[in-house]
Amino acid sequence: MIFAHDTEVALAAAAALVNTGRSGTEQLPDTAALDRFATAWGWTVNALLREAHALPQLVKHDSWDYHLHATPPDAPLAERMAVEAAMAFADVIRTQQLDRLRLCAADDCDSVHVDLSKNRSRRFCSTLCANRTNVAAYRMRQAGGAGRAGQAGRAARPGAGVAHG
Ligand SMILES: [Zn+2]
Ligand SMILES: [Zn+2]
Repeated sequence: MIFAHDTEVALAAAAALVNTGRSGTEQLPDTAALDRFATAWGWTVNALLREAHALPQLVKHDSWDYHLHATPPDAPLAERMAVEAAMAFADVIRTQQLDRLRLCAADDCDSVHVDLSKNRSRRFCSTLCANRTNVAAYRMRQAGGAGRAGQAGRAARPGAGVAHG
């Protein structure tokens, strides 16, 4: 055992979630797949909460309005992080929103992100990845053009491609 058990469970669950999007085909394409994933990993969320003796308490502190803490303030950092992740996962699972946990759509980026957009449209971990991908697509289109059009495309500022892409 390298980390505490609850940390390893949380990491394994997180990795499994990440990996559902890595094989080239989306492994969480529909509600049935989400249900299977939630069923397979739901127990780890419960185990995580159980092992940390999570006891949800309504709290209000700093600039935060009422919310739940499930660990005492003096709990070890790893335990607080694990339980907070577990509480968040429980919410994501019961509201069937697992498809909002995504891998960056950029070819050369392995980052994950949470899509909190209203229309579930977020594809990239950052504007950096979004712009890089759009510029690459723009250059690809320009390279496909013949002769002078291609030259003009390469001379254009990359930003122009983003605006029109
Ligand atoms: Zn708090
Ligand atoms: Zn990225």
